[in-house]
Amino acid sequence: MKAKVSESLCIGCGACAALVPDEFDFNDDGFAYAVNDEVKEENKELVKDAKENCPTGAISVEE
Ligand code: SF4
Repeated sequence: MKAKVSESLCIGCGACAALVPDEFDFNDDGFAYAVNDEVKEENKELVKDAKENCPTGAISVEE
């Protein structure tokens, strides 16, 4: 599974990084990005939750 953050949609609210700090971090511009090329097995459900909870729909997930 791969996660992606759209920088044009992200508002830097921090929700995804708070929920799954292992998978999301912030770049120097304050936008989130997916840390790992492949989402770790143990984080898959949390990444799906992060996607559902992102207020701007900036996170996409590819199986
Ligand atoms: S939850 Fe969405 S808007 Fe908030 S930092 Fe993460 S990707 Fe950006």
